Amino acid sequence: MNTTQKNYSLQPLRGMKDHLPSEQERYRQIQNICIQTAQCFRYQEVSTPLIENIEIFSKTVGEDIIGKELYQFKDKGDNSVALRPEGTAGIVRLALNANLLTSLPLRLCYHGPMFRYERPQKGRFRQFHQCGVEFFGEKSPQAELEIIQMADMILKKLNIQTKLLINTIGDEESRRHYKTALVQYLKPFQKELSPESQTRLLKNPLRILDSKSTQDKKILESAPLPKNFLNKNSKIFYDQVLSLLSKNNISCQQTDFLVRGLDYYSDTVFEFTSSELGAQNAVLAGGRYDQLIEMMGGRPCPAIGWACGLERLALLSSLESVQKLTVAVLSTSEELNDTAFKIASDLRFQGFIVYLPNMQNPFKKQMKTAHKASCSHVLILGTEEWKEGKIILKNMKTGQQTLLDKNLNHFKLSP
Ligand code: ATP
Ligand code: MG
Repeated sequence: MNTTQKNYSLQPLRGMKDHLPSEQERYRQIQNICIQTAQCFRYQEVSTPLIENIEIFSKTVGEDIIGKELYQFKDKGDNSVALRPEGTAGIVRLALNANLLTSLPLRLCYHGPMFRYERPQKGRFRQFHQCGVEFFGEKSPQAELEIIQMADMILKKLNIQTKLLINTIGDEESRRHYKTALVQYLKPFQKELSPESQTRLLKNPLRILDSKSTQDKKILESAPLPKNFLNKNSKIFYDQVLSLLSKNNISCQQTDFLVRGLDYYSDTVFEFTSSELGAQNAVLAGGRYDQLIEMMGGRPCPAIGWACGLERLALLSSLESVQKLTVAVLSTSEELNDTAFKIASDLRFQGFIVYLPNMQNPFKKQMKTAHKASCSHVLILGTEEWKEGKIILKNMKTGQQTLLDKNLNHFKLSP
């Protein structure tokens, strides 16, 4: 008898979730589409640890995440560490550490869990999963086209309807001028701004443009716009990006107040949004971050990337999961059980999905379990047939039976 009392919950932590087999299958499918599409553009997959020294994030991702969303703690060696809230900073660390940025251009992709201590809602979790891509070493409108085209392709493959919102926040110089103008405009309204925007006014005024508060939005109605503070280079660059997208049939909507959640962005920023997600409407977001590599101790290096949230993609995608063909191996007599094990093992080695019912059960029961396990086919080892060097293959859907040679040369399953 179990005498220990259970005094803990079996629920995962708030904002985190288990993936049951069918969900996990779906996530795997979506993740494969993301990574395989990136690989078609010749992006190479990398992965970084889930935990990093806190500086990797505190010096890069900005106040919002650092202030309230970062999972941070001291490890047993008294080091301040954090669970990664996003992928880019870790990828840049990896690229610098392994000297990958000495041979440019460099194209990398990744996937994995991210952690942010947020208020859980539909499409917003504390542990969520992202796929992302990063393109280092080229500041050209073609880089923008490449990664936006890739994002668009992935969303199409997943059958997700989205709108592409785009904006530029300009290069460093343009942003500096704009920031000054924005702060000057907002100062007189300081007390009327939401508490969040009041903090941002001091730390990162650009993020106020992103505010969801209706009061803030009203104040912003006649605020100066980033597009009116672009220097010549930033303007020319952005116009080229828009023209290249349009020539390649990617439609987008100029969105004057679009800025990104993380602090390191510059020039082009974009978001693919869906109206079906409510407040959490961004499914895939990214932009250019030409200063980040230098901020992290590298030589100046232009870069652009995006990340998408798998949970939000899963909510929206109408992609059917593919039913995989499974063959059960059944034995009609005890003397053939070991042969069944051998055949199952050989087929698995070749890559077939093989289901083995408990061979101690009579044949009828084996057949029942194979049926219950939704096997598409069964291989039946019958005593008589085996003596003649044959095995029966039955298609469970059509009921059709075929006699195969017992060595199963050129074995294949057709639906
Ligand atoms: P949001 O405005 O929704 O908070 P963000 O600007 O913080 O998004 P990014 O850091 O750009 O988001 O992350 C890119 C993508 O990752 C988002 O578009 C979204 O699909 C996903 N994502 C971000 N935070 C979460 C979360 N807490 N739960 C689930 N998905 C998330
Ligand atoms: Mg966020």
